[in-house]
Amino acid sequence: MSAVIVRAALALVDAKERTGFCFAIQDERVAAIAPFEELRKRFPNAAVREYGAGVALVPGFINGHSHAYQILLRGIGDDLPFARWRDEALYKIIPELSPEDVHRTFATAFREMLAGGVTTVTEFFYLNGSGNAHAEAVIQAARETGIRLVLARCWMDAPSAPAQFRESIDTAADRTRELMARFPEANICVAPHSVHGASHEMIRAAGEFARETNCRLHIHVAEAAYEGEQTAAQSGTTPLRLLESLGVLDERLVAIHAIYIDADEKKMLANAQASVIHNPVTNQYLGDGICDVAGLLALGVPVGLGTDANVNASIMDEMRAAALLQKLSRRNAGSFDAARAFRLATSVGAQALGVEAGDFRAGAYADYTVVDLDRLTAPASPLVNAVVYRAQSASIRETFIGGVLKAASESSS
Ligand SMILES: [Zn+2]
Repeated sequence: MSAVIVRAALALVDAKERTGFCFAIQDERVAAIAPFEELRKRFPNAAVREYGAGVALVPGFINGHSHAYQILLRGIGDDLPFARWRDEALYKIIPELSPEDVHRTFATAFREMLAGGVTTVTEFFYLNGSGNAHAEAVIQAARETGIRLVLARCWMDAPSAPAQFRESIDTAADRTRELMARFPEANICVAPHSVHGASHEMIRAAGEFARETNCRLHIHVAEAAYEGEQTAAQSGTTPLRLLESLGVLDERLVAIHAIYIDADEKKMLANAQASVIHNPVTNQYLGDGICDVAGLLALGVPVGLGTDANVNASIMDEMRAAALLQKLSRRNAGSFDAARAFRLATSVGAQALGVEAGDFRAGAYADYTVVDLDRLTAPASPLVNAVVYRAQSASIRETFIGGVLKAASESSS
């Protein structure tokens, strides 16, 4: 693709409003940020893309944790306690999906996310028991819709899990390696399910695999109270300390949820330079608990946001929920502001995943969305507050990935 110069009347850069913001795109990335005339000289043959009054450019949202096929549980799993939700909805519907079902379902979910400004999604994907065909269907759906995919390829061997989710350690490793070799664009990483879904041997092996292949390790940890009780009874410790003893508490660790962790465990995450993904809507929906996001950020732990069960596959809902839950849990409305919530969904979320995106920055992928200011509830200023507290997917006019248009609302030109 030849270079493009983007000139926007209004943009959010590092969660701050910028007027007359210009940057150049080359080879899918932001090549330079500079005044328009300077970019004109540096990229004389570039096309110019103008965004005038009435819209604002916003970095694409980073969805750090999703199970896209759980859109199929909508209505069926609603209002069930966790164990019943898992057994009567999740374990009933998901194991039966064919690769074609997966393809169709993920494409639908990815379009929903793109329409809401999500440009990168991490799919934590379980359906690997019969081979890679299902995972390939996910990669195909991402390719067709254009969303940037991080495939957190699940490893699971708990006898209680459906057979369609289970593999031996060697099989999981071989199949994950094969996916990595064939689909470098899918940013494949390893994802032992949890301390209850994967054996200690499997988690340890996944840690070795991550070091060997230089990938991240995603794992659900400390999501609900029952997990802590079970781990204490079986292993005499907490879920996060168990992960440390299994050798996976390091800078590769992406801890999904991290709700039931004590003050020392927060410091352990910070010292290890690990990351956390917070899923506030799912945590409310399943009655899990509230992650101490403000406390983790204060220690320097990058915290991203995820739509997880995809009650509504909207990162805007997650941003709002993240801010509101921090205010509520600290009984202090000043404890968390809109700009901070916005960064969780963009720059800090990208950092948590190790993806070069999430803000307008030289070298990062040119992934961005165009917000229609007329479709924001008034007032549209400050812009970051309007986006975090009041925007809907319908407020997004277009979504670009690598500088290329991938989604547009029907009424946009
Ligand atoms: Zn999850």
